[in-house]
Amino acid sequence: VRQQVRKASFAIEEVQLTLPVSPRAFVDFYSGIHHASNVGRMFRPEQAPLLPNYRHVPIGYNGRASTVFVSGTDIKRPRGQQKRGENVVFEPSRELDFELEMGFYIGRTSEGRGIEPDEFTEYAAGMVIVNDWSARDIQRWEYQPLGPFLAKSFATSVSPYIVSFDALEPFRIEGMPQDPEPLPYLQATQPWHYDIELEVSLKTDKMTKPQVICRSNTKHLYWSMAQQLAHQASNGTIIEPGDLYATGTISGPEEGQFGSMLEASWKGEKPLLMEETGETRTFLEDGDTVAMTAWAQGEGYTIGFGEVIGTVHPAG
Ligand code: CA
Repeated sequence: VRQQVRKASFAIEEVQLTLPVSPRAFVDFYSGIHHASNVGRMFRPEQAPLLPNYRHVPIGYNGRASTVFVSGTDIKRPRGQQKRGENVVFEPSRELDFELEMGFYIGRTSEGRGIEPDEFTEYAAGMVIVNDWSARDIQRWEYQPLGPFLAKSFATSVSPYIVSFDALEPFRIEGMPQDPEPLPYLQATQPWHYDIELEVSLKTDKMTKPQVICRSNTKHLYWSMAQQLAHQASNGTIIEPGDLYATGTISGPEEGQFGSMLEASWKGEKPLLMEETGETRTFLEDGDTVAMTAWAQGEGYTIGFGEVIGTVHPAG
């Protein structure tokens, strides 16, 4: 067997990694509760950080599948409509950002039947790291009342191989307490959160090595992926093999654990210092490279997700 495995295995340096699956549908949830709270504090300071529906319904939207790219793909800064002072302009985004997320691919059709949270791994095949690139200035102007549109659809990057849920079985954990109790269709009898370490680094084109700017963990999701899928399937829509679901930005509760520049620089008010060069960053500039890694740490072994990396290029 070992010989057959060796024959079928290739060193990563010897191959070109490609998109694991070209999804026909891409859905982006918003289940990182610390991220959602931080965004609420920044954009709606006069209200409670979380909207009243947040702890009842897993918030999400249908994203754009055609611009899901494999790690390593260059990211062109998007142009878009924005409000600048009193003017409405169509210009390159000045607030380009990343979002640290995990994603799961579907392996089996639901044929329009509902899916219970405990049936999650009968439908979901495995996980990837997702960088859901975002243009905050475009987003701020367009997102009400229907939600994100062009601020998100220009690029989403995924890591090049899928880690199966079988491999992640030892890393299932209970999530944070959910209050109020979710409706019955969102209730699971088993733990469906995962203990996976996440890390983001940034390297400007002047730096020789990347600097870690965020450490987080998938345990900071409020809604589990199993609940996300149960919610998506609950209205009778058809879940198809190859569909990609992203969790939403996974920030931890503390500084240094924030999974976007928006939060890490607190809307640009607290620029990040790049220690090697003394440069500062609020949002991403041309030439910046963002790399995300993830791993599950077992006793004496590690399950790695590889990385999702992308360099920002000027607007076309
Ligand atoms: Ca997102």
